[in-house]
Amino acid sequence: MEQKFTYEDFKIDVKQNHKMIIDEGIVKLQGSKIYPYIGDDQSINAKATRSAPDQYIITINEGVLKAIFSYSTEVLRPFYKIYHANLGVTEELFIRFVCGIMSDFIFWHELSHIARGHFKYLGIDQYDTSLGFNLDKISESRIVEIDADIFGASYLFLRVLSVINSGSIRAEDALCAYTVGIRSIFEILHIDNVLEDYNHRTNEHPHSQARAFNAYAFGVASPEIISYKKNILPYYQECAQQFFIDFESLALGNKFNIDAVAEIMPVDVDKWHSEKAVLDSLSIMSYEKRSMAEKRKSLFREITNKLRNLFFPPHYS
Ligand SMILES: [Zn+2]
Repeated sequence: MEQKFTYEDFKIDVKQNHKMIIDEGIVKLQGSKIYPYIGDDQSINAKATRSAPDQYIITINEGVLKAIFSYSTEVLRPFYKIYHANLGVTEELFIRFVCGIMSDFIFWHELSHIARGHFKYLGIDQYDTSLGFNLDKISESRIVEIDADIFGASYLFLRVLSVINSGSIRAEDALCAYTVGIRSIFEILHIDNVLEDYNHRTNEHPHSQARAFNAYAFGVASPEIISYKKNILPYYQECAQQFFIDFESLALGNKFNIDAVAEIMPVDVDKWHSEKAVLDSLSIMSYEKRSMAEKRKSLFREITNKLRNLFFPPHYS
């Protein structure tokens, strides 16, 4: 009998994933260090804070993790039960993977605020000022949110591709988890009205849906990955699209407001595109190679995972 994936397991995963992204030098910043932290705050939010000239803290509220975990019980498990014939992973593995995608996306979103120079872009010089996950009505702030969604989703997609390449999971299963995870994290924001951008369109609330679609679309088609295995990428993108549509109709009851999304998305993308060159110039991403210590950590993790899979293989249904 397969062990049930618990909230405690989830919290351990979250800490390990964040540590891995930082320790293994997956994203490097010019002269800045990042410290991940899970805060006690029960509200559904996360933030990046500049705590010193060369230091940032990424805080994920415990409220986010709890919301993700309850969403997995209320929506993802029922979805798995009607959809598992299309998947090659057990329920526990699927739930664990999707929960990981959601919490990692939040982390990558915050990391993108830092790496893409958003503090400078918004003219935030003072320390202890945060950039969160929600949107407010200031238009520059809307652009950085979209930029963080796009880059966050792209980096996360690159990570998913590396998981596929490691051979530990079928490509289709990983792509389903990615798509469902991205769609779900924005659905959580959509349900939590406090975070919904009600200033954007006075009487409609589709903005999180537009953000979800945006993040998903850029994630699987961004310039960062476009040169990746040209022969297989179109198939991956097609799979992801089918999973998006299936999850929408089977789990969310087709309440996706496609007209509103079709109206909002081009406006948002145009605004973002017109500012992209400025944002690119403020980026503090560093393309220096990973250090020996970082590579060593990465190799040790890979070996440990391989051994774990050998002795405790994932159970395919
Ligand atoms: Zn944000």
